[in-house]
Amino acid sequence: MNTLEKVAVEDVFHQQQQHVAKQKLTTARERIALLTKLKNALPAVKDKLVEALAKDVGKPAFEVGYMEIAGLAAAIDQTCASLETWMQSETRPSAIDPKANIEIRPEARGVVLVIGPWNVPFLLALEPTVAALAAGNCVMIKPSELTPHTSKVIKEFIPTVFAPEVVSVVEGGVEETTTLLQLPFDHIFFTGSPNVGKVVMAAASKNLTTVTLELGGKSPVFIDKSADLKRAATAIMHKKIINGGQICIAPDYILIPEDIEYAFVAELQKAAQRLLYNNGKFTGGDMSHVINQRNYDRLKGLFNDAVSKGAKVAFGGTFHDDVNQIEPTVLINVPLDSKIMQEEIFGPLLPIIHYKDLQEAIDYVNKGSKPLALYIFSKENKAIEQIVAQTTSGGVTVNEAMLHVFDPTVPFGGVNGSGMGAYHGIYGFRELSHLKTIYYASDAPLDETLYPPFDKKQKN
Ligand code: NAD
Repeated sequence: MNTLEKVAVEDVFHQQQQHVAKQKLTTARERIALLTKLKNALPAVKDKLVEALAKDVGKPAFEVGYMEIAGLAAAIDQTCASLETWMQSETRPSAIDPKANIEIRPEARGVVLVIGPWNVPFLLALEPTVAALAAGNCVMIKPSELTPHTSKVIKEFIPTVFAPEVVSVVEGGVEETTTLLQLPFDHIFFTGSPNVGKVVMAAASKNLTTVTLELGGKSPVFIDKSADLKRAATAIMHKKIINGGQICIAPDYILIPEDIEYAFVAELQKAAQRLLYNNGKFTGGDMSHVINQRNYDRLKGLFNDAVSKGAKVAFGGTFHDDVNQIEPTVLINVPLDSKIMQEEIFGPLLPIIHYKDLQEAIDYVNKGSKPLALYIFSKENKAIEQIVAQTTSGGVTVNEAMLHVFDPTVPFGGVNGSGMGAYHGIYGFRELSHLKTIYYASDAPLDETLYPPFDKKQKN
């Protein structure tokens, strides 16, 4: 970023800083009008987005439609329907003086920086923006540089909807983000990897800026003996191939009793065939490719490392170097010390680990970083409750995968290594608000018993 560009970014930031006092005072009706304007503009950007995401990551148009566009429209609808209620202050008598009144008022945080990832680049830049606008903030968006065509679409789209003092976009990569992170934002909403999350949090600490960190990690799948294996296999394979497995809450690895592993792998293979093959021939068009060469090589490295340490390829293992695509690949007998069991996979490779008893599997998960998502396939309530109660994760879906992220009324976020803070629905509104307590004192006589001078009081 040259000096002129840096000055331009700082100018936008100062413009937003000056404007935010006005933005904070906007009514529910004004905020709903702003969000409705965004929703109404979505159909016009859809085709450009489909084209950009096809170029950036080979994302099928259908996935763009339901994830990037419909997902955002649903979040806007839900916000607009409830915003007036969310904005209301909580009022009640004080617990220390029933004649005094308490108000707890959600107040905008101020100027918010939204840093987006590349994997769902439109939705994950704009959904936090919707929450921030609902709460009365101004927003600077930094989309991911790894999806440059989509970043350009966002850069051109936002000024057609918002004035720059309300929402603006700064494009760029590490250098530009580093510059942005030096500015004293009132809040930073970051979606990305745990490693960069640490960089963001360290930078935020210099200004004591609050942060929301939506990170990733290894999301395990527990399957027990009572599970419906066909249903489990279909759900897991489907969620593993969305976006080419490049989803923060994609099933990362499977934990299963050894005696049902073979039957389960057979079901997984049938599911992969149904979803992505035509008469046994891979039809790659319905699955995004790996985002770039670096990640493609990284995934190949994970695969080769596991195989060299003794893992067996149950099926898949075909790498299409010309298009950076990997056919859904299931690995069994995977050594726990292989790299594929140490880092977030973020691609269509699926290792399977067996366990003898459920407690052993729970203990294994608890040794690692707290997952963003955790999945359980079982018909036994006791087993389900044992896993839910003894593990910690951002969220859980039972007998399916990922569905908790699609319900716009529940909090979505990680815990420690997988993130902090949550959003979606009212949780996003609150995350982007400061809850300000206002104490309206009663006209009861002043309680002077606690006032100095204390000498005389201590003697009494
Ligand atoms: P990333 O951390 O590499 O990049 C995210 C953003 O940070 C980008 O805008 C990038 O420009 C910026 N960035 C990268 N390096 C930086 C640095 N050194 N200093 C400052 N900024 C920097 O993540 P990604 O590859 O775009 O996304 C994949 C990761 O995001 C995965 O770990 C995935 O699980 C996670 N993710 C989480 C969620 C969620 O909602 N929790 C959603 C999507 C992705």
